[in-house]
Amino acid sequence: DSLANEIPNYTGLVNYQLVEKLGDGAFSNVYKAIDKETNRMVAVKVVRKLELSQTQKASVLKEVQLMRTIQHPSIVKLYRFIETNEHYFLILEICEGGELFHRIVRLTYFSEDLSRHCIRQVAEGIRYLHEEKGIVHRDIKPENLLFEPIPFMERVSPLPPQQPEDGDEPKEDEGEFVEGLGGGGIGQVKIADFGLSKVVWDQSTRTPCGTVGYTAPEIVRDERYSKSVDMWALGCVLYTLLCGFPPFYDESIQVLTEKVAKGQYTFLSPWWDTISESAKDLISHLLCIDPNERYTIEQFFEHPWMKETTKVATTQE
Ligand code: ADP
Ligand code: MG
Repeated sequence: DSLANEIPNYTGLVNYQLVEKLGDGAFSNVYKAIDKETNRMVAVKVVRKLELSQTQKASVLKEVQLMRTIQHPSIVKLYRFIETNEHYFLILEICEGGELFHRIVRLTYFSEDLSRHCIRQVAEGIRYLHEEKGIVHRDIKPENLLFEPIPFMERVSPLPPQQPEDGDEPKEDEGEFVEGLGGGGIGQVKIADFGLSKVVWDQSTRTPCGTVGYTAPEIVRDERYSKSVDMWALGCVLYTLLCGFPPFYDESIQVLTEKVAKGQYTFLSPWWDTISESAKDLISHLLCIDPNERYTIEQFFEHPWMKETTKVATTQE
């Protein structure tokens, strides 16, 4: 059928059977595939080498090297890397739920509890990258945040609950289960796409990269500043989760750039009227122009909004 025609047959990709396309990038296509040896589902990111410059090829190889060292539930795992004359194949852990972004579109916006559930997992991934690995991701955005779906069913009663009368026997539950949209359905959230990420900090010497004692101030500063770019992005994601639209937007790139440079955003009424002051306070510490004042990942976790308990089903009931 037509779908089968869209699935290419790549030379050199022998152990994987492509099933369907999951996403497209500028130089890559991502497919869902079956690992024929284990019968497990994986994601295969196919990068067309012929369209890449030497520098771009080097950056793909760097992405692969970085991902190889990463081991965290909030980060998509790289299982294997295959190189042929024409392609790079990154065999990745699959996130069947797809992009968090698509869920925001579907639900319009997330409750504070569901937003906290999602942002906490993203932040745990960032904390691991920043503090354990000295890596800054530099491309945190809803399209690069994927999730594993969990079955989450909500009961819908056929009748409103009624007071039992004398002599009534307890009734069989006649409720019907439907796919829940009230908050469940999002399990583990994972960070994908390490194409722009960079090592800024040496995990063994616990210093910025470069020789200790001879490190120039701009390198030390760069280490700090580049971590803070992920925190800004985290603020943008949290804002978007809570209201369904991004903090900075304009049809004109020029105007948009100007707004970002000035940190011009508002908690637009009526959408933000019902959202807690605590959530707004946290966002304002992330969308803070001065990177020295912007929250670090540790400060993020210490904020009262993050300490509130989340009432979202995270496992199948
Ligand atoms: P690019 O560098 O081209 O942006 P990404 O790694 O971000 O490539 O992948 C592009 C898209 O493919 C993602 O936005 C997502 O929709 C999908 N995708 C990527 N990796 C996975 C995965 N492991 N599981 C499911 N979908 C994925
Ligand atoms: Mg991407």
